[in-house]
Amino acid sequence: MTTAAGPDGASAAESREADPGAAVDLELVRAAAEVARTRCRGDNHTMAAAARARDGRIVTAVNAYHFTGGPCAELVLIGTAAAQGAYELDTVVAVGDRDRGVVPPCGRCRQVLLDYFPTLRIIVGDGDRMRAVPVAELLPETYVWADHQMDDVS
Ligand SMILES: [Zn+2]
Repeated sequence: MTTAAGPDGASAAESREADPGAAVDLELVRAAAEVARTRCRGDNHTMAAAARARDGRIVTAVNAYHFTGGPCAELVLIGTAAAQGAYELDTVVAVGDRDRGVVPPCGRCRQVLLDYFPTLRIIVGDGDRMRAVPVAELLPETYVWADHQMDDVS
């Protein structure tokens, strides 16, 4: 693999993959893992998520399972962060209970996170493969809700 990375995004992405540990917020992963280990109980709360807000603080949450479509930890996290005045999130990670490690977001969460925070990074992978990837990379060729709001068109 060449190291002559150009200014295009593909080369930058390759560079990140070649150095997977560089951009991973391990403090954030530990925070999510701690909540998963200590706060997840039974079938209602099985996943924890943590976010690094733009101002540097960490916000955590757990999912609220319900068969009607209870929110994943990542979605509870968005509301929890807003309730604390953190409206801009830079990085999100989810960790499963019972030592399941880092768990990637489901399709719904990928879409919601992209629409709320287009520049968000999401930590995926486990162990040596853990890396922080732009949310847009997890949804190639996606529908972007904001691009289709026609209120400003005259
Ligand atoms: Zn989800």
